[in-house]
Amino acid sequence: MDIQDYMKGFIDTFYDNIHTIQQGKPIDIIPEKTIKQLQTLDFTEEGRDLSSLLTTLEESIYPFRNVSEHKRNFAFIPAPVMDISKLGDLMESFYNPNAAGFYSSSGTAVIEEEMMAYLCEKAGYDPKKASGTFLSGGSMANLNATIAARDKYLSLDDITRGVVYISDQAHHSVHKALHAIGIPDERIRRVKTDEQLKIDPTALQETIKTDKKNALRPFIVIATAGTTNAGVIDPLPELAKICKEEDIWLHVDGAFGASVLLSSSHTHLLKGIEQADSITWDAHKWLFQSYSCAMLLVKDKADLLRSFSETPEYLEDASENEHINTWDLGLDLSRPARGVKLWLSIQALGTKKLGDTIDYGIKLAEYTESVVRNTPKLEIITPAQTAILNFRYQREGLSEEELNSFNTALSNMISNQGFAQILTTKLQGKTVLRMCTISPETTQEDIDKTIEHISSCIEKLETN
Ligand SMILES: *Cc1c(COP(=O)(O)O)cnc(C)c1O
Repeated sequence: MDIQDYMKGFIDTFYDNIHTIQQGKPIDIIPEKTIKQLQTLDFTEEGRDLSSLLTTLEESIYPFRNVSEHKRNFAFIPAPVMDISKLGDLMESFYNPNAAGFYSSSGTAVIEEEMMAYLCEKAGYDPKKASGTFLSGGSMANLNATIAARDKYLSLDDITRGVVYISDQAHHSVHKALHAIGIPDERIRRVKTDEQLKIDPTALQETIKTDKKNALRPFIVIATAGTTNAGVIDPLPELAKICKEEDIWLHVDGAFGASVLLSSSHTHLLKGIEQADSITWDAHKWLFQSYSCAMLLVKDKADLLRSFSETPEYLEDASENEHINTWDLGLDLSRPARGVKLWLSIQALGTKKLGDTIDYGIKLAEYTESVVRNTPKLEIITPAQTAILNFRYQREGLSEEELNSFNTALSNMISNQGFAQILTTKLQGKTVLRMCTISPETTQEDIDKTIEHISSCIEKLETN
């Protein structure tokens, strides 16, 4: 067999296996024994038989993962990838264009520009002035955004006085980004959240004023649209107003939630996002793309060129320059054209179907909430918001500590049984069960059975 036969054969094998995924466990961790076996495969001078290597990959490597396609996998933010995206990814990998600049891959550059313009328009930006980049993930988007904000607002002397405002619900990638751009914890203000876990705008404004009085340099507020913990959207219009008054950059980390901009009937939830200076948006979460595919959008492309262009004449006529090389818009140089698979997916699926699929996840979380509310011994902690909800086992007479350890044990038992995958998170000191319901494959029956399964696990734990 030559390599091409293996390639063709792989696709058949993959789709043969996919049918059994729903019967299997939503997550499988590699056993010690298998690790040991893999470690014996040292690199040989003469090479090994390809066919048996591929069998090793199929049987001993890839099965051990968080199976995102599993329809009862509610942990993390699942990545239920569309087949069209996989096809786009395959083509990308085969043609292997270098999407660094226009000259090296002008065809994909045009498509990425079209894709980005569409996303900017959906965000409420002026597509002529706005721009953005496709990058590997939300973490990188947050990093590029904070670099741009720093360079716009802080002179070299100011850097040691720059202050950032986030909430206690911000994603941890934000801390990494801030440390990377030279902002230590002492100048990261974790603004208080209200009982709904949203940034409290009054507390934010007061903190900014105090910092300014102390000769510090507030330069960026990082809000979240769809927190990873609870799907909460910060009060974007209020935050935008404060940022305007105080002359501060507003970044919205919408790695998870920005996809609501493409929903059929929930775009109102993101009102105010159009006033943000920049938006992080992961397509490999709620736009059903394979890893890795994320975006950073900016309201004004000059804000990226200032930081990343090595040919500053762009700054003068950025708006006239038709095809900006994306190496001038971010840290990446050589990279795949990640935007093309997204373009292909939305073109083929149509915006209506995509929008309805995003809505479906939101409605499924609301349905789950209603089932949980009707289930004895379970209490809702945060209601369904952007397809995420949190609840926990509750019983009169147990201390918070006892409740926390019961809920941890409950989550462990659910994971070990392999019917569904539900992990815990901590909210205001409580250990809770968290579910994210964005998979188009999940049915209401799956939800019913999952909650029944939780009840049966509770029964077992209570009798122990
Ligand atoms: C997932 C997530 C990130 C990180 O995105 P990656 O693509 O995993 O790098 C950042 N912020 C939020 C709110 C997220 O949900």
